[in-house]
Amino acid sequence: MLPAINPENYLTADMNILEIKDLKKYFPIKSGVFSRTVNNVKAVDGVDLNIEKGTTLGLVGESGCGKSTLGKTIIKLLNPTEGQIVFDGNDITGFNTAEVRPLRKDMQMIFQNPYGSLNPRMNVESLVTEGMEIHNIHSKPERKEIAVDLLEKVGLAKYTLNKYPHEFSGGQRQRIAIARALAVKPSFIVCDEPVSALDVSVQAQIVNLLQSLQDEFDLTYLFISHDLRVVKHISDMVAVMYLGKIVEIATSEEIYENPMHPYTKILISAIPDIKKSRENRKIVISGDVPNPIDPPSGCSFHPRCPIAEDKCKISTPELADKGGNQMVACHLA
Ligand code: SF4
Repeated sequence: MLPAINPENYLTADMNILEIKDLKKYFPIKSGVFSRTVNNVKAVDGVDLNIEKGTTLGLVGESGCGKSTLGKTIIKLLNPTEGQIVFDGNDITGFNTAEVRPLRKDMQMIFQNPYGSLNPRMNVESLVTEGMEIHNIHSKPERKEIAVDLLEKVGLAKYTLNKYPHEFSGGQRQRIAIARALAVKPSFIVCDEPVSALDVSVQAQIVNLLQSLQDEFDLTYLFISHDLRVVKHISDMVAVMYLGKIVEIATSEEIYENPMHPYTKILISAIPDIKKSRENRKIVISGDVPNPIDPPSGCSFHPRCPIAEDKCKISTPELADKGGNQMVACHLA
């Protein structure tokens, strides 16, 4: 079921830059001399999402819940197993490598680790202009001019053009990665845990930078993080993911003020500096995310859910409209 079910409250199709329907990404586990598929890691298991142009969808959940795989599948760094991806009105689900290449200009990704995502042998000028060169945009002097301009916008001086990644701090490297992503004028960026490798003091600077660039460049973000505190400040909508599925989606305000899914409540309760109602005070979650090869029956959260009932072990809850812009997959929400 798509979140955009209520035209009164929600988005219309032409406002969405991205629509994904029942998206699945399974990684086969092979065994034996004939390498037969004996099972699958169900990293993304039937996700429906829409993202409105010019907005940010925050995607949160614990490590290993499938967030990054979902981001990579959406921009076709990974091929989906099933489902549909519609980007800017075009169904790109079955696009092959050659068809995806021009799309790379419109869909960019900023990775978690600014230490690993930049080629240490390339100087800043080459890193920022590489995309324009690949897509054959602008002349060489124009590319350099654009690189200088972008570096200035992300808070780096012109003289850094000749420097190499090892000469920068983590925050500065992430600024270079942002300038590099912006150089090809994308309309959609997947920010995959862009601040989680940075010091807390630098995290806010990068989030603020992404926010100010969003207005200036008319960008749409899918902002992935395990940290709800980080997502809060940048997201218009927040989707909570657990074991390959979306369990709750709502406006940023709604999800922090009125979380409905027990898993969301637990994540919210773990944020140290957020004002909480009495019922949302710190709730302890037990155990780890279950193995996605063999997810629990019924509601996959039931082994860890503090309010699980017998029916939760048998029946899988669907994402259901709870009014306003909130959808929740829980029998008891
Ligand atoms: Fe908990 Fe049951 Fe709701 Fe799942 S369906 S979150 S187990 S109450």
